[in-house]
Amino acid sequence: MGTTEFQKPRGFEDHLPEDVPGWNALEDTARDLFTSFGYREIRVPHLEYSDLFSRSIGETTDIVEKEMFTFQKEGDRNLALRPEVTASLCRALLEHHLREREPFQKLFYIGPCFRYEKPQKGRNRQFHQVGVEAIGASDPLLDVELIQLAVRYLENLGVPSFDLSLNSMGCPECRPDYRSLLKEELDQIRDDLCEDCHRRFDRNIFRILDCKNDVCRQITRDIPEITDHLCESCDEHFEEVRSGLSDFGIEYSQSPRLVRGLDYYTKTVFELKDPSLGAQDALGGGGRYDGLLEQIGGKRAGGIGFAMGMERILLSLENQGGIPHRKERDQLDLYMVSINRTCRRELLRIASKLRTKGINVDLNFEDRSLKSQMRVANRSEAPYTAILGPDERDQNEITVKQMDTGEEKRIPVDDLPSFLGKDSN
Ligand code: AMP
Repeated sequence: MGTTEFQKPRGFEDHLPEDVPGWNALEDTARDLFTSFGYREIRVPHLEYSDLFSRSIGETTDIVEKEMFTFQKEGDRNLALRPEVTASLCRALLEHHLREREPFQKLFYIGPCFRYEKPQKGRNRQFHQVGVEAIGASDPLLDVELIQLAVRYLENLGVPSFDLSLNSMGCPECRPDYRSLLKEELDQIRDDLCEDCHRRFDRNIFRILDCKNDVCRQITRDIPEITDHLCESCDEHFEEVRSGLSDFGIEYSQSPRLVRGLDYYTKTVFELKDPSLGAQDALGGGGRYDGLLEQIGGKRAGGIGFAMGMERILLSLENQGGIPHRKERDQLDLYMVSINRTCRRELLRIASKLRTKGINVDLNFEDRSLKSQMRVANRSEAPYTAILGPDERDQNEITVKQMDTGEEKRIPVDDLPSFLGKDSN
């Protein structure tokens, strides 16, 4: 591999043409499946005013404190590349008064997010998410349907094994009491916690619960669990979600340590993991955020969503058996080579006509011998190659070679679509 003066920035990836069919499969599957559950696609900017994220995700979260790409002021407000999409989507929902037209909204998105994290396998500074948000209802049955959708997405893609973890984060009624209790308990062991958790104690105490440090895990193992301290409404909600998942035969493990990194969650939170991925094993996650719309200036409304990391899903598919390809869409039907430039001009005319009939066709533009053009034809993986020389051109004919058998046939140019089995339109 040659070195060039310019290289991509650390934590950013190029998706080369051979990788793109896999990405398309993830996107196509999302569009088909999410639409079948009543979700509509929305596209929002990759850049927002940064206070949208600090207000919604939380000032003291890792994402806002350390991981946002923030830019110079516009007026006196900073701009930031979006570290996730939920906040932007809710902002758009309010800005365009979508709920005035239809109070219950089911929306999905596909696109890049940016976090200034230390790059490693499965952790990039630009990564891509597919996600859904259902806004305007607080029914736990919606949580069940949404979790079923997340599970089905991975199943439809062929991710063979993953684990679903479930927890409840309570609500503004019950969470403050639990937070006080946690503070009391953790205060006693505060000095033994890792440096990060020491900081989290004052700034974001719940994150101590999901610290990966072995010492922290060990010394916090007997800390009271939030699900034993839920108010009646949260408790009932959690019970309904669990029984709903069981009704659908969706297996999950209850994970009292699952807190997720964002402040806006209330009640249900969940995560999907592929343990074979190592340290960065979360394929996706989500939860309910009944206070989020109000936090960014709207009326209070129930809402729930999830986001899946597309890089992680691709890694998981790679590890566990293969990335789906949509050959039929990406492959060429025909490659064309010519003896001289006059013939090439004719090929361009033929190609233009075939393309209007939905035939995928390419031709060679290089000034090379027929033999080396045929090598390019071979590498193009088109099942047929058409060869045009002066003699064929005079007769308005063309020679077509079937690449797997090597069989050649000279046919009238007008017969190409039917010869390729593509004469329906
Ligand atoms: P989060 O809401 O932070 O849990 O993100 C949702 C999903 O996005 C995660 O489960 C990951 O699959 C993916 N994700 C988050 N951050 C990154 C990153 N820096 N690089 C790659 N994928 C990420």
